[in-house]
Amino acid sequence: MPSQPASILVVDDEIELQRLIERRLQVPLEKGEFQFLFATNGVEAMEQLAQHPEVSVVLTDLNMPGMDGFALLEQIPKIDPFLKAVVVSAYGDIENIRTAMNRGAFDFLTKPINFRDLMLTIRKTVSLVCQARQQQAQLENAVASLHYLAHHDPLTGLPNQNAILERIRAAIEARESFAVLFLDLNRFQVIKYGFGDVTAEEFLIQGVKRLGECLAGEDMLARVWKDEFALFLPGMETAEVAKERAEQFHDALEFSLGDRPIASFHSHIGIALSSLDYSQAEDFLRAADTAMHYARMQTSKHNTMLFNPEMQVAVFNRLQLESELETALKEQEFRLYYQPIFNLETLKLAGFEALLRWQHPQKGIISPSHFVSVAEETGLILPLGEWILQEACDRLHHWHQQYPESFPFFMSINLSGIQLLNVELPDYIERLLSHYKLKGSQIKLEITESVLMDNTEVVMRLLERFREQNIRLSIDDFGTGYSSLSYLQSLPLDTLKIDQSFVKNMDGSQKSLDIVKTIITLAHSLGLDVIGEGIETQRQFQILQTLGCELGQGFYFSPPLDPKTMFSQFPTVGCSD
Ligand code: C2E
Ligand code: CA
Ligand code: CA
Repeated sequence: MPSQPASILVVDDEIELQRLIERRLQVPLEKGEFQFLFATNGVEAMEQLAQHPEVSVVLTDLNMPGMDGFALLEQIPKIDPFLKAVVVSAYGDIENIRTAMNRGAFDFLTKPINFRDLMLTIRKTVSLVCQARQQQAQLENAVASLHYLAHHDPLTGLPNQNAILERIRAAIEARESFAVLFLDLNRFQVIKYGFGDVTAEEFLIQGVKRLGECLAGEDMLARVWKDEFALFLPGMETAEVAKERAEQFHDALEFSLGDRPIASFHSHIGIALSSLDYSQAEDFLRAADTAMHYARMQTSKHNTMLFNPEMQVAVFNRLQLESELETALKEQEFRLYYQPIFNLETLKLAGFEALLRWQHPQKGIISPSHFVSVAEETGLILPLGEWILQEACDRLHHWHQQYPESFPFFMSINLSGIQLLNVELPDYIERLLSHYKLKGSQIKLEITESVLMDNTEVVMRLLERFREQNIRLSIDDFGTGYSSLSYLQSLPLDTLKIDQSFVKNMDGSQKSLDIVKTIITLAHSLGLDVIGEGIETQRQFQILQTLGCELGQGFYFSPPLDPKTMFSQFPTVGCSD
């Protein structure tokens, strides 16, 4: 039984009968099982039905002035397909019954009315109508939630790609002017890797919230893919206005999460304006996506680009490189080469620097300068960096076993700034050291000066951990940044590595020579060693030696070599495999 009284519409021109029905039926039904509405012909009935969509059963006479019962029966399914009509007529001959049934009557009762029959019939009919309506409502709910799922992203509750495409489609049809912005949060993958899914998601949700605060009117923000968002901004006529909006979004993403030492997102935005000669929503989204990728190829932290078709080739090549790099890691196409580092006073081997190479199946050996920055942007540098650490430790362990008399020498390993965002890094290195039976002091991590300047607090904590593990630390490319003396003093460092450019120009340029001298003096005053890098001539070697630079590496001594060649060149330190 429905909780609300079921509405019954009685259609009969005999008022007396209506009264009777009401009175007789309502006596046993005081609990409000039914509620009656009345009409005296088909036209009135139609009006009542229009005003009362809750009516579930129509009791109708056949012979009435104006619109009769037969005509009404034909209209009922058009008003509501679930509504049912029961005919109550004095003319219960077979012809009438058949005609009424053919026109959609659900049941047929004859006058004079047997009230017991009538009540049973009404109850049965109401119950069927209610059931059918409930099922329909459930179906509609299911369809609505399917529609919601199909158009929304479950994590952020934002509209998804389907939804924004529909919005763009509608705007194209209405010939509205608009801008589609594609935005990516470059650091999401890195944060996910370094801090775990939960923190990354919190960070993402916070980012979404802040982006949402920049929306106005009919703007739409959609999450298209993991860390990629699309924005539909109606009414954007010019690139300038769209770029101004993009700046707001960049600004909104300048935040850090609670006390977590995460550097903020790097956001890149690509813009496609409705003035482009496209007719498909997908084309606008793709154009904005291309411009976003082009923006990402530039090194700055926040960048906006307006789409132009010339970007396509560059972006295509770049995406291909990104995907090839991912395959390269899986297919083990990376190698480490090793460049020996010598004590410039004794000319004894002091250590090696591990340098990454990509053994491309078609293109041969590729230098890291062509792909490390891309691996950093995609976050691939994190798993790749772990591989580098492991491979270098494995090599060191190997050499240690085979040439114990040549030890101790150290292994310098280059760390990317992105790897320093990974709080798990010290634990990872700890496990490697114990697995390969190495001491922390045999590892020297090379970090560039610019990375230290960028993320002071985050990096400091990590460096302290390394210090506790006795791992040595070196600043790479020193002299190219602007570290102050007091800042350097606060870091737990062991070595400064003079940037190659100064070493290269030392014998021609007094300025470079002065810089090299200053760096060596500065390092010694801080109790640090100095490595001269990129030594190509005997003269450069001699200058550095005279200036008291402890260590050196460069083509003058040896280029970086693969472990096998190393064995033939330096028989005391090689490998047998
Ligand atoms: P870097 O760390 O400053 O490495 C020194 C670069 O100078 C190396 O280039 C090395 O091959 C080259 N080099 C060595 N001696 C000489 C010389 O006498 N003359 C000249 N002109 N060059 C010399 P490479 O191997 O191409 O690496 C380039 C950069 O790629 C590295 O600069 C480093 O920033 C990055 N990189 C290399 N391996 C790794 C790695 O394993 N991890 C990370 N994160 N970055 C790496
Ligand atoms: Ca280096
Ligand atoms: Ca360097």
